[in-house]
Amino acid sequence: MKKLEQIYEGKAKKVFATDDPGIVIVDYKDDATAFNGQKKGTIAGKGVVNNKVSNHFFRLLESKGIPTHYIEQLSDRETAVKRVQILPIEVIVRNRAAGSFSKRMGVAEGTALACPILEFSYKNDELGDPFINSYYVRALNLATDEEMEKVKTYSFAINDILSAYLDALGIELIDFKLEFGRSEGKVILADEISPDTCRFWDKATGKKLDKDRFRRDLGDVEEAYHEIIRRLMGE
Ligand code: UDP
Repeated sequence: MKKLEQIYEGKAKKVFATDDPGIVIVDYKDDATAFNGQKKGTIAGKGVVNNKVSNHFFRLLESKGIPTHYIEQLSDRETAVKRVQILPIEVIVRNRAAGSFSKRMGVAEGTALACPILEFSYKNDELGDPFINSYYVRALNLATDEEMEKVKTYSFAINDILSAYLDALGIELIDFKLEFGRSEGKVILADEISPDTCRFWDKATGKKLDKDRFRRDLGDVEEAYHEIIRRLMGE
């Protein structure tokens, strides 16, 4: 497989075409942004951590029957993935109150929830990713009902798989964001699952091991990202 021209550059990743029209290469950067791009910085080594951590989770999910875009890790920062059409919907799963949920609902961070929450927002930076529900998805033709059923089923299954896996490593999965894509008429998991897109709290100490350390200037940002890779892969 040959890496060809760059076709897209996002906040945390670049995407390159390959000589196979069905495959693209994702290249993870160290750039970090928060609050819809208002806060910018660099986290040394983040691209390597996110690439490896995301691939580790995607392989685990594939082994448990969740279809994903993952094909093969090519280097520390590069991974070959299936080219998909990304659904313009960010899916958030919450197990404990935190972040924007705590703010919006007036519920203190860390409060337990009686059941997991599934939440959708419209993937549009200019609009600040506004909150939507399944009626918006249907009314604006963002995805079919059939596709949304898959999105919901996969999201809860992913939550069960990742929560159990991380629990055994002493990490609580507080919440996370998923993106799905269409590939050959099917819905598959795409984008990434990493400390940029999840809240990971150490079970013993409650220490935040994710991007909140950058968002909130908590310090030890690089260390937290490396702690995640250490627990997952022993590196
Ligand atoms: N998240 C993300 N990208 C976004 C918004 C949220 O990856 O554009 C993740 C975030 O890291 C957290 C979860 O989704 O793990 C829930 O985020 P929340 O809605 O609480 O927003 P935040 O407080 O991050 O603004």
